[in-house]
Parts: sequence; C-alpha cells; structure tokens
Amino acid sequence: MIDAERRAALELVADEVRSCRRCRLHETRTQAVPGEGHPSTEVVFVGEGPGLNEDRQGRPFVGRAGDLLVELLASIGWRRDDVFITNIVKCRPPDNRDPAPDEIGACGPYLRRQLEILDPALIVALGRHSLGRFMPGTTISRAHGTLRPADPACGAADALVLAMYHPAAALRAPALEEACRADTRQIPRALEEARARRAAGGGPAPTAAPGATVGVSGPPAASEATSAAGPESLPPAGEPPADQLTLF
Ligand code: SF4
Repeated sequence: MIDAERRAALELVADEVRSCRRCRLHETRTQAVPGEGHPSTEVVFVGEGPGLNEDRQGRPFVGRAGDLLVELLASIGWRRDDVFITNIVKCRPPDNRDPAPDEIGACGPYLRRQLEILDPALIVALGRHSLGRFMPGTTISRAHGTLRPADPACGAADALVLAMYHPAAALRAPALEEACRADTRQIPRALEEARARRAAGGGPAPTAAPGATVGVSGPPAASEATSAAGPESLPPAGEPPADQLTLF
C-alpha cells in the first residue's frame, strides 16, 4: 500500500470513529480521538484512552502526558510526527476512569484496522490497558521494558511489542518517570530487532549488534533468537546512539 492509500484508509477509519456509537462512551465524549501520525511509520504507540485535553481537541496525547511523550521521543531523536499515536478506546471514559472491558471490546476493531493498514514493525504499548491487549496475563510492573512478538490477531501481521509505563503514570510518580525514560531508551533497539525479524521473514527475532544502525533495507545482523514463549528483557540501552535510526 502506498502512502496516499494508507492515509486514505486511515482517514476512513477515523471518520467512522468520529461518528461511532458502539459503546456508552459516545454519550459523554466531546470529540472522539481516532489517532494520528505518519501513515508509513514503522512504529505505533498505543495508549489507554483520551483524557480531558484530548477529548476537547480530538487529538491523542496533547496534555501534560503528551508533552512528556514528545520529550521522551526527543530524547531518542524522534518526533511525534514520525510515529503513529492512538489509544485502546477512542472516546474519553468519564472522570478518567478505566475503560470497561465491553468498551475495550467494542472499540477493538478500530485499532485492529489501524494496525492492519499501518503494518508496523514495532508497537509500543503504553500502560496496563494497552498491555492487557498486547501482552495479556502479565502486569506493567513486570513487563515494562520487555519485548514480545505481537499476536497477528491484533491486526499487525509481523510486529514486536515493547511494553512501557504510560507517561501519565510517570507524571504521578517520579520513580515511574525514571522507568519510563529507561523504557524509552529501549525503543531504538527494539525497532532494530523488529526490522531484523521482518527481514528474516518473521518468527524468532535476531538480535542486532548493540548500538548498530540498521537501515530499512539493510542486512540484519542475525545472531541470537528471541523466545516467543514470553517477554524478553532487553539489555540496558544506555544513552541513545550517536547515529539515530532512520524511521522510514
Ligand atoms: S470508545 Fe470506540 S466503540 Fe466506544 S463509542 Fe468511542 S469509538 Fe465507538
């Protein structure tokens, strides 16, 4: 699918989201928040749901948590326009309560279609509700900073999932903010792993040489395999590499 086709397909999904009444959240929303970003990105960030500012503006991650996400991305040399950002539920739960399971289920097909269109190499699951969708059966305190193959049923046919604390949680607790920054430093290497895995035709992920820059079409540095049976902790990434990864 070329850029323009992806953009049009994503806009079709967004139009449906904006008029959606599949669950009770449509009754209290100001605006639905479909998500936004580069249609040909390799990386999709999936949060929980819109907050107050997102609900008012119809855009994801535009409040303080959004500012922190932008700062985190800048720390690895990326911009928010380089990636796609969306949520598990597209309408704000009242009073910022947790989205209910039936609401998550009703909204699921929109996220699945977005992932089918974007076909990302890497999904970054932000917070426990996103984790529940992509890494069920674990907790964010155990899984953050770990990488696991995505279930193709989520819509992404051949992707890895990196778990991270949600930036909103990081704003509430300084200890989580440090964990969030450490998780962010894992992202470029997680993308390398995801690219190498796709270049190898899927399945176990070869591990790229630490700090290496792997081009989209360049040969992956194949060596060790990542277990598909459970999350694998990435070694500490340290400071971001001098040569930043090319996203497109
Ligand atoms: S949260 Fe999702 S399913 Fe519910 S009304 Fe909004 S777009 Fe529709």
